[in-house]
Amino acid sequence: MRITILTLFPDMFPAILNDSIIKRAKESNIIEFEIINFRDFSGNKHNTVDDTPYGGGAGMLLQVEPIYKALMSVSGHESALKILLSPQGKQYNQTIVKELIEYNHIILICGHYEGFDERVRDYVDMEISIGDYVLTGGEIAALAVIDSVVRLLPGALGSKSSYLHDSFYEDSLDYPQYTKPREFDGKKVPDVLLSGNHKEIAKWREEMKLKRTEERRPDLLDKNE
Ligand code: SAM
Repeated sequence: MRITILTLFPDMFPAILNDSIIKRAKESNIIEFEIINFRDFSGNKHNTVDDTPYGGGAGMLLQVEPIYKALMSVSGHESALKILLSPQGKQYNQTIVKELIEYNHIILICGHYEGFDERVRDYVDMEISIGDYVLTGGEIAALAVIDSVVRLLPGALGSKSSYLHDSFYEDSLDYPQYTKPREFDGKKVPDVLLSGNHKEIAKWREEMKLKRTEERRPDLLDKNE
């Protein structure tokens, strides 16, 4: 998969894209990134890409022209899925992650300041919000999308089974997990996990998954009805 990021703040990305699982996925050619700065498409001598809103009001808006030109400069933009990060978008979830991994090329457009000129919306296929709160810019939202997509790409996690039981992969939460030591501060690992009986362990995990989902996210179970 190829992911192109359009942003005014390219320096926000390297720490996350050059570490851990994403770094390994890049090295294995599972994912390829390209970061484009709108400022390179400013077209004025001060290199500005924002201006005051018509009608007045606080803050600055990203202008449509540099974003349009940056988008048009991306090879293969016609067939790529173009996503605008916006608090007004569709709320991001694991179902959307599964949809995104089917694309060969995704373009993520990050807003900043007060947002962007409304006409930017005419050039995208989808708007994604990562939650009902407002961030300073779309960069953290883009990184959340990238991270969640990359871990589902074939080969990125090494073994497919490592995400199959994750929360939200199906409409449930993950079961409780334990590692060494067997006892800490009087709290013991459940006997069944030490029993070596794989059938019983699988049964316990399914029960715990259901219990935890009922307690914490009953709305997920309602979706299955
Ligand atoms: N005035 C805009 C509004 O209320 O819809 C908010 C602008 S916000 C300060 C600046 C940029 O951050 C947005 O254009 C968007 O790219 C990004 N952003 C902020 N919150 C976000 C969220 N919850 N999900 C995705 N992107 C977000």
